[in-house]
Amino acid sequence: MIMRLAFVTTVLLGVLATCPQAVAAQQFNFIYPEVTGSTGIGFDDPTLGTARRTAWEFAVAQWGARVNNTQTINVESFWDNLGTGSSVTLGRASSVLVFRDFTGVPQAGTFYASGLANEFFGSDINTDSPEIRAEFNHQVDTLNALGSTVFYYGLDESPPAGTISFVRTALHELCHGLGFSAGVNSAGELLGGGFPTAFDRFLVLDATTQTPLTTMSDAGRSSAIRSDNLYWSGATVTAANGGNLARMHAPATYVSGSSVSHFKLGHYNPPEMMEPSLSGASFDPRLADELLFDLGWSINLPSSVRSWTLY
Ligand SMILES: [Zn+2]
Repeated sequence: MIMRLAFVTTVLLGVLATCPQAVAAQQFNFIYPEVTGSTGIGFDDPTLGTARRTAWEFAVAQWGARVNNTQTINVESFWDNLGTGSSVTLGRASSVLVFRDFTGVPQAGTFYASGLANEFFGSDINTDSPEIRAEFNHQVDTLNALGSTVFYYGLDESPPAGTISFVRTALHELCHGLGFSAGVNSAGELLGGGFPTAFDRFLVLDATTQTPLTTMSDAGRSSAIRSDNLYWSGATVTAANGGNLARMHAPATYVSGSSVSHFKLGHYNPPEMMEPSLSGASFDPRLADELLFDLGWSINLPSSVRSWTLY
């Protein structure tokens, strides 16, 4: 039986004044509804559209160099009003659907992001839908969000003062789309009708007792995701983190789109790419690619140098 389910989205927050590996066997396929529709907005913007697409496809290619996908990953992306003000959502992305109990699945009763499900299934399990959907906040470039701060579309890690690296933002969002996303809501309920995601299965309360979230009641999970004591138990991340379980974002006040589906904000030095607020402009995925490996992706993990291969 194949179960499919629309998935929760996560968000990357921007806050004002805070400031060659092996080539993938299959590439990513780009879907631009705005361009297809000749809308003149977003990725079709007459002024910014080309730079936005170039930066977006550059970011996708970075993951493409790390992920050994055998199945094409269709990525739909567009721009939207994701809010205004001094603290806004820069972008959000997710696997469009998640699947469980399909032929080839490594673990029963577990939802997998569709791109990863395709890998195990051996073909496109969801022919009628993109694997990943990402959207970005056009209010940033229209100056209605974050004051005068705008996105920087350069392909380097040095955004000028007063700008936010779009590539850095896009790398973060793509990682969510590849499965870096919890399936637990604020009440501690498993969104998949009681079934966890592959991501959820690695979440544990307390680095010592390591109580799996999947063994808890909803009330227990609700408490655990507010405990500030939430960890990732996957072996590959742990090995890359000096033998220590990596700490996840679980503040006492639950924040939808931020809690659980990120590494702990401000905990890592240098910052993790997958913290819930943008920290720095490095393109280094740091622990994020090991986490995708733990989930089951075939990943070109770094050997001695922990950085992206650029240019
Ligand atoms: Zn995020």
